[in-house]
Amino acid sequence: MRIYHAAPAPARPLYALDHFDHARDDTLAAPAVEDAPPALVPAPTPAHATLDPDRQAKARRYARQRHTLALVSLALDAALIAILLFSGLSFALRDALAGAPAWEPVAGWLPARVGLYFLILFAGAFVLGLPLSYYSGHVLPHRYGLSTQSRRAWALDLLKGLAISLPFELVAVAFVYWLLAATPDLWWLWTGAAMLFVTVILANLAPILFLPLFYKLTPLPDGEVRRMALALAERAGTRVRGIYSMNMSTKTTAANAMVMGLGNTRRIILGDTLLDRYTPDEIEVVLAHELGHQVHGDIPRLIAVQTVTTLGGLFVVNLLLHAVVARFTAYHGLSDPATLPLVGAALVAFALVTLPLSNGYSRRVERQADVYALETTRKPDAFISAMTRLANQNLAELEPAWFVELLLYNHPSTARRLALGRRYAERAQQTTVAGEPSGAAIP
Ligand SMILES: [Zn+2]
Repeated sequence: MRIYHAAPAPARPLYALDHFDHARDDTLAAPAVEDAPPALVPAPTPAHATLDPDRQAKARRYARQRHTLALVSLALDAALIAILLFSGLSFALRDALAGAPAWEPVAGWLPARVGLYFLILFAGAFVLGLPLSYYSGHVLPHRYGLSTQSRRAWALDLLKGLAISLPFELVAVAFVYWLLAATPDLWWLWTGAAMLFVTVILANLAPILFLPLFYKLTPLPDGEVRRMALALAERAGTRVRGIYSMNMSTKTTAANAMVMGLGNTRRIILGDTLLDRYTPDEIEVVLAHELGHQVHGDIPRLIAVQTVTTLGGLFVVNLLLHAVVARFTAYHGLSDPATLPLVGAALVAFALVTLPLSNGYSRRVERQADVYALETTRKPDAFISAMTRLANQNLAELEPAWFVELLLYNHPSTARRLALGRRYAERAQQTTVAGEPSGAAIP
């Protein structure tokens, strides 16, 4: 459980990452292993991929298990928060911390006590959630042949993630409680502004500071893929600041690609698991999809949408906090450490309610990048083939239940992406001079 969600560094991957943001699953990485330089010429692969029915059956089982685990995890979090809120445990913990230094630099702000309170909650939630994290982050991906990490490497990644996020979260909590004490009516606005500031900085620094702690990034040397990217960018009238290969294979058998960074760190990243087994045409549509994100300014757009959503959430928390503190005298004020579970519960509830909205927006952005890829490359067959290969490789469900897609998918389902590709293929066929080869081998 994460009482406080650290602002994630926005990235637009090509393919849906885990639908549930378990901040410490296989998106976090292993120690850099000496690996071969990225392949310049993709290995010979069949020209067109076809959907593997056995992999689809497996994908459906895997999805069902992950959804169940996510629900269990959510129920566990809810139970924990409910116990804290309604059993008086929250007040007991605050009172137990009365022995801690009453350092009060600002009237009503007790940073040492708030910090300790947060650390105790965090440690408790972390330990209780560990078996579930281990099962969903390590055991299950191994069982489905998706993880290539040893248990030790997985644990090391977990610790690395913790070492990065915990100090950050601790400072963030202390900062918010300072605002609660100093400006109880406008704290939410200042918190939102600070989050925007931090998100922009993190988005800029993530690819050069955090990602290399988990993956090795290698600038793609001059070769077919690099030349393709530069040609695509030139046609689009944009500039590729950097194109990198990432050693995803040290952690997973799944393939992905993404745009990441902001300003001078903006870059396109291709997994080695994609570079080594996709055809040049497939890699070209993948590059075009990522370039589409760049041309559409999706990272800044995403940050803007996230900021507005966060402000809405913080405003709701503000109303709730004022109402509860006014009604229950057990709370010593807004900046009382005992309000932490309340703030956490309200933020989690708000995030759950807005999840379908933010995912809907994300699906739209992804579809636009797909359209961009199809229009600039005019290679719908390669697009269809790449999506098929990704579904096989990443164990992605072709057609999830409509409500699953609506609530949880931040990318359109494979079926929708394939349908989009086919529409373009048909259109291309209609406009192609008769006799010219076209049409995709669609399963
Ligand atoms: Zn994308």
